[in-house]
Amino acid sequence: MLLSPLQAKKLIKYAIEKEFALFAVNADSPAAIRDCLQAAKEAKAPIIIETSMWQLEGISFGAGDPVRGIAQYIAHTSLLANSDEFMEVPVLYHTDHIRGPQAEEILIQAVKGLPIKGFGEELLLSPSTISLDAAQLTPVENIRILNTLIETSKECGREITLEMEAGLDGGLTTHEEAEALVMGVENKYPGYIAMFAPGLGNQHGFSKDGYPGFAADNITQSSKQMKELTGRDIGIVLHGSSGLSHDQVREAVACGLTKMNWSTDGIIVRSAAALEYYKKYEKELTPGQAEFKERAMDNGQGQYVSETFVPVIKKMIDLLNGTGTAPEFMESIK
Ligand SMILES: [Zn+2]
Repeated sequence: MLLSPLQAKKLIKYAIEKEFALFAVNADSPAAIRDCLQAAKEAKAPIIIETSMWQLEGISFGAGDPVRGIAQYIAHTSLLANSDEFMEVPVLYHTDHIRGPQAEEILIQAVKGLPIKGFGEELLLSPSTISLDAAQLTPVENIRILNTLIETSKECGREITLEMEAGLDGGLTTHEEAEALVMGVENKYPGYIAMFAPGLGNQHGFSKDGYPGFAADNITQSSKQMKELTGRDIGIVLHGSSGLSHDQVREAVACGLTKMNWSTDGIIVRSAAALEYYKKYEKELTPGQAEFKERAMDNGQGQYVSETFVPVIKKMIDLLNGTGTAPEFMESIK
């Protein structure tokens, strides 16, 4: 079931209470979204599907138009997640790295609701949770845009739940920086920030040498600080998990991690499986061969990649202690 912003907030609270972390996958194709839902279903776990600007502009979704991209992405995810097959899987759609001069306008549109039109009717779709890429923003701009999104949600009477980002690749976020950011929103509009993503000493993307500077204890510190500042639990988010070892991830969960973003490793798994497929069936992929159609059509490669990708996702969910956590949550929101 695709969760609304308020249901998403409940899921974040539930993950904090049950001491597991939500797995957030940057899924860049309809097939990847289906595979994530399938893995979550088999693991009886919630799943976060998230997109950055490059996916929204990619050929599978907006094809150059990121607003159309979000609408198409939510429509697709909603159709799948709200089908009988996946109704018991809590699915959260999150906007991940939306950046650049259009970012504010794209997110304002998303809060107001993206129209899906047909047969004279219109349905408005919004993300379950929203974050804004802070990499190219000053703290003042970061705060201003989040406050604008909250104001937009109030004006149009639509719910909003936020993840606030600090500059993630610039090393550790200090307590002073974290306080200035979160309280810049919280003092004006308390209760909207459900998650905070501080710099934790790692970085986005692949690192051959891993991230020896990553200290999981920073998660405990950050989570304690958030509680002291706001009086409630705020989930701490880890971006750039691709260079971390499984031991580092386990430690992060033990230190109270609530959400882990995963992108580069997923692309590596999917592209390697696709490459293997095309090499393995190179002969059959010649027109005129008996199995040509079966091998050449999208479904051939898609099924093959899925067989590799789904078990990897399940393993990651398990690493984050998420296995078996969905039924109790679904019961709680009925
Ligand atoms: Zn990130």
